[in-house]
Amino acid sequence: MSTIAIKSDLHELMVSWRHHLHKHPELSFKEEITSDYIASVLQSHDIEIHRGLAVTGIIATIHGKKEGQVIGLRADMDALPIQEKNNFSHKSTHEGKMHACGHDGHSTMLLGAAIYLKEHNDFSGTVHCIFQPAEEGGGGGRVMVEEGIFEKFPCQAVYGMHNWPGMAEGQFAVHDTAVMAANETLKITVTGKGGHAAMPEQCIDPIVVGAQIITALQSIVSRSVAPLKSAVISITIVDAGFVSNVIPNEMNLTGSLRYFSTEVGDEVKGKIKGIVEGISQSMGATATFKSIPNYPATINTPKHAEICANAAAMVVGKDNVHRNELPSMGSEDFSFLLNASEGAYIWIGNGLVPENSPEGGCMLHNTQYDFNDEILPIGGSYWVQLVQNILK
Ligand SMILES: [Zn+2]
Ligand SMILES: [Zn+2]
Repeated sequence: MSTIAIKSDLHELMVSWRHHLHKHPELSFKEEITSDYIASVLQSHDIEIHRGLAVTGIIATIHGKKEGQVIGLRADMDALPIQEKNNFSHKSTHEGKMHACGHDGHSTMLLGAAIYLKEHNDFSGTVHCIFQPAEEGGGGGRVMVEEGIFEKFPCQAVYGMHNWPGMAEGQFAVHDTAVMAANETLKITVTGKGGHAAMPEQCIDPIVVGAQIITALQSIVSRSVAPLKSAVISITIVDAGFVSNVIPNEMNLTGSLRYFSTEVGDEVKGKIKGIVEGISQSMGATATFKSIPNYPATINTPKHAEICANAAAMVVGKDNVHRNELPSMGSEDFSFLLNASEGAYIWIGNGLVPENSPEGGCMLHNTQYDFNDEILPIGGSYWVQLVQNILK
């Protein structure tokens, strides 16, 4: 590693902030203790803050010594409704809530960078550190954009970072374009005619129709989407019937659709509609289908991805910056910020999954996940390097 701006003093402080945040996880838009804590650390270093955007969001503004460009750096703050199964001293003290996605670490890395930059503001321009609520399904990024984050705090570009378990500590991955997929919720209702289970000829069984639909939907990705393009259709909730001797009137299917390009997404939704209506009609049932958009795809601008890769290489060396990783079919609400501004979102290695770790123990959203404290100065130094490179 060549340029670690954040050294041991600040690293120790960052570990203490991270553990405090980990002990006090809060769900989307309820990050009150979290927001107060982050604000108090920022204010104790005389950093200008703006609060209340998207309920609990904080913008911390650091001015360089000279005028110049303005950029945004974003970290998410929220936790998940998961009961933590770890036993270390910084485990969650909030029943049923856990920082299982490492947003405690993301906030801490940005906090460390903010404090470093305030003390070393020999740059030209302005940095807005964006502490964003509600990444986990709440769309805090969308709310920030709707509330006018970029009108109130205009930025030439905005940058994001997420820890990535399974990638070694001291490594980064930077994608030129697509990083994370779009995510929509599928809702299908098949209506037949209920009746006695022993007299199916007098009924239209929505369960048999729904079963055909579930199977046929799986042919869309394999037969209608070009092999080198990507989509996923997963039916995840099947809801019908209530007793063994009654054919119900209705079957409800819920699922998840993932894709990168809007064209692929539109094509897949058209095919789903065709299958749902066609199969239902051919079997005498009726059906409705809707797809509810959650997050758009997270797509980097190549120019900004290059800027990120260069900064990361200055921190960990070029060989430790992966440029050809496949994107993830997971999704991320930083996409709303990237749809409103140019920029890029990168992954920082949270460490390899050790062979003897509990099943999935290192993976995101697992009950035994923990953010790796060793990468706090690496991620914090990346933010600092990024600012120093752009706002020279
Ligand atoms: Zn998550
Ligand atoms: Zn996350």
